[in-house]
Amino acid sequence: MIQENLRTVEDRICASCERSGRERGSVKLIAVSKTKPVSMLQEAYDLGCRDFGENKVQELVEKYEQLPKDIRWHMIGHLQRNKVKYIVDKVYLIHSVDSLRLAEEISREALKKNVTVSVLVEVNVAGEESKFGASVSEAVSLVEQIAGLPGIVVRGLMTIAPYVENPEENRLYFAKLKQIYVDIIQKNIDNVCMGELSMGMTGDYEVAIEEGATYIRVGTGIFGERQYKAE
Ligand SMILES: *Cc1c(COP(=O)(O)O)cnc(C)c1O
Repeated sequence: MIQENLRTVEDRICASCERSGRERGSVKLIAVSKTKPVSMLQEAYDLGCRDFGENKVQELVEKYEQLPKDIRWHMIGHLQRNKVKYIVDKVYLIHSVDSLRLAEEISREALKKNVTVSVLVEVNVAGEESKFGASVSEAVSLVEQIAGLPGIVVRGLMTIAPYVENPEENRLYFAKLKQIYVDIIQKNIDNVCMGELSMGMTGDYEVAIEEGATYIRVGTGIFGERQYKAE
């Protein structure tokens, strides 16, 4: 199933790139493996996946311990400050930095462990109450503030678009994130290396690619529906 799903996703990525005149190499696919067993991640790994996304610290650490070390782990979920210490030396990219206090904690732990942590600033482009992320009006100043911290580098922006039936409804949000990204590049802020736009999930990654995504985060489309245990 995973093999077939990956092939379908790959075909769609290629088609979206073609439609928007982009190189296939400019879009990176993150296999979002939250709630899925290590055996399924191993299967995806054996099929060539090296970028995996998780949204819980404990789950990420457990899987990190059990799987090959050349995997690039992406923290895509809301991150609590008291858990930063468990992942700073394990993650390739933290997509969900949404406050200066969180960034300060990442900076502190990065210095302790002598690593540099790459992050994206999460922006709640649609302004949904239920979602984390900096507001559109705060985004640029948050990037500027984080840029002043040691041990942490801002590499771009991330957004989680609303759940919609028709992915076209999210096009304006993806375009908005891209616009904020371009505004930040034009400011030429020291210690900010804007290069990544993390946007698009199973329901809307094709539109996100057309609007400039460099990372798409696909879970269901690769691993199938998730079943959440009652907690
Ligand atoms: C779960 C999740 C995804 C993947 O969602 P699918 O709809 O299953 O592709 C992407 N991004 C974030 C932040 C997530 O939490």
